[in-house]
Amino acid sequence: MVATAKTKALVLFSGGQDSTVCLASALARYDEVETVGFDYGQAHAVELDCREKLRDALARFPGWGAKLGPDHMIALPELGRISETALTRDVEIEMGRNGLPTTFVPGRNLLFFTYAAALGYRRGASVLIGGMCETDYSGYPDCRADTIAALERAICLGMDRDFTLETPLMRIDKAATWALAHELGGDALVDLIIEDSHSCYRGDRSKRHDWGYGCGACPACELRARGYAAYLAGKA
Ligand code: ZN
Repeated sequence: MVATAKTKALVLFSGGQDSTVCLASALARYDEVETVGFDYGQAHAVELDCREKLRDALARFPGWGAKLGPDHMIALPELGRISETALTRDVEIEMGRNGLPTTFVPGRNLLFFTYAAALGYRRGASVLIGGMCETDYSGYPDCRADTIAALERAICLGMDRDFTLETPLMRIDKAATWALAHELGGDALVDLIIEDSHSCYRGDRSKRHDWGYGCGACPACELRARGYAAYLAGKA
């Protein structure tokens, strides 16, 4: 019998709804899974606090605990320092003149995947997974499939190693993301995401809605609430 090499995946894990579904999806499909988070001075550092809780809870799903490896945290304070964004500064969350919300951090996902590849190179992880989505999103150009495909090619060439950049949510909307969570881990996973994942740009966990905690008014809360309502409507 020929032993097949185990595939290790590294998930960009922020503690938000999308990256939590990505982590569950990786645990369902790969032999070994590690996580990486980035601290770039985002105002919603509360999202980072959710990470540990979510990882612990996901490790208790059948078969997933044995696959879940270490978590890595990379500090990128310079990214917050050089970007003029509502996530890292006291800037109103609104639409900017460029047609993008003021939460846009230029180049963020390019940097995240490049750092993840550098880490994956050392850790032997050939699959890098991120929750980018161009279906139901704020228009960030670094979330689009074309960008990720070009970045994958640049990383493979620049590191002379085969990496796959996987974005399981790219073509599905937020309602389908909730449905995917249900498919992967049933009501227990949906409930976990509602209770312990965090998406709100304002870092507000003082208000509990049926879709989870958040201010209820920022673009991230609006997307999450609308998606959850559509998910429930689709189930009924
Ligand atoms: Zn919010």
